[in-house]
Amino acid sequence: MNDEFTLYDLKVEVISSDKPMVCRHREGDYFLVEGENLVFPQTTSFSMYSLAALLPLLPAKQRELHENDWMLSDSIIACPDPNCGARFKITRTRPRTLRHSECTVEKIHSTKDDITMNMEEIKNGSED
Ligand SMILES: [Zn+2]
Repeated sequence: MNDEFTLYDLKVEVISSDKPMVCRHREGDYFLVEGENLVFPQTTSFSMYSLAALLPLLPAKQRELHENDWMLSDSIIACPDPNCGARFKITRTRPRTLRHSECTVEKIHSTKDDITMNMEEIKNGSED
């Protein structure tokens, strides 16, 4: 059975703004997102606070998104330090084909399962 799916690899690059950078960012520093891995080919350090601000967005940016979704259009993220002018630009670099069976031991989830489960909940009158 074909269990392939596609995620985009990403590049997250430090860019400047009209405000000076307070933290130790350097314009042009970057890391890559390849599947589930963060790769730092060029820099050996990256602010953990900036990383914390970026991490929630990366899995969404890896995936196909609705054209109206703001997660697709918004790709410049500010440093969480309000006094710092650093920005982080997230770009998709290439699609990567992955296999479900190589990422998890869970069975493939069908959206039909959700509909069946919801219909059973409605029949049984269970609500949260
Ligand atoms: Zn900063």
